[in-house]
Amino acid sequence: NAQKYVIGNWKLNPATLSQACQLASSLVQMDKSVQVGCVPSFVHLSAVGELLAESSILLGAQDVCAKTATTGAFTGDVSAGQLADIGVKFVIIGHSERRAYYGEDNALFEAKIQQAVDAGLTVVFCVGETKSQYQAQQTLVVLDEQLSVLKSVPADKLIVAYEPVWAIGTGLTPSIDEVIGVHRHIKQVLARYAMPTVSVLYGGSVNEKNAAEFATAFGVDGALVGGASLKIEAFSQIVAAF
Ligand code: 13P
Repeated sequence: NAQKYVIGNWKLNPATLSQACQLASSLVQMDKSVQVGCVPSFVHLSAVGELLAESSILLGAQDVCAKTATTGAFTGDVSAGQLADIGVKFVIIGHSERRAYYGEDNALFEAKIQQAVDAGLTVVFCVGETKSQYQAQQTLVVLDEQLSVLKSVPADKLIVAYEPVWAIGTGLTPSIDEVIGVHRHIKQVLARYAMPTVSVLYGGSVNEKNAAEFATAFGVDGALVGGASLKIEAFSQIVAAF
């Protein structure tokens, strides 16, 4: 059975370091039934990491340098080794915002995954179809193409997140049956890659009201939460649901 995770992707939030530290402190206080992770922006990582140090919460990063796992002349980048050194355990790669706003593609994801794995980080790899792909019933074809970069990732260093692009930040979600069907498909693909126990999380407008439904859906091993992870009351209810 796959391990369960509820991970808060803070994206480019909150506005200040002190707000990030406040959020991290409340996470430490929260009751945790499953493995919880939080993913602050780079400038908040080390301060949040210190606050989480004695807790069970896993610290994640939102991006990683594709060129090296160590050091070098790569202005503006942060390496997997630097992240690991300050206690980061995992990195999000393949998020639809990186695909859409920064043109990131499979070749870049493969390079980033390689650096992350070289430094011992776990990869949270995001996949998901756009609204037009969903409407054209292309979801599974799109996912197959996105998942193809994972073929040689060590299974114990991988978590997959299914995030339909049209569900992110919109309040819209697929039906539970659709989510179950897509997760079943993703797990079949992962089984073909000899990684049958990789956790597959759902992401996209998860909130305190719908979390229980996702939590009981077959094949949903947790949630990757954006907006609702910034509100401790909402996030703690989501964690409790899983
Ligand atoms: P929302 O929960 O805000 O829809 O964002 C989901 C997401 O993109 C998490 O990575």
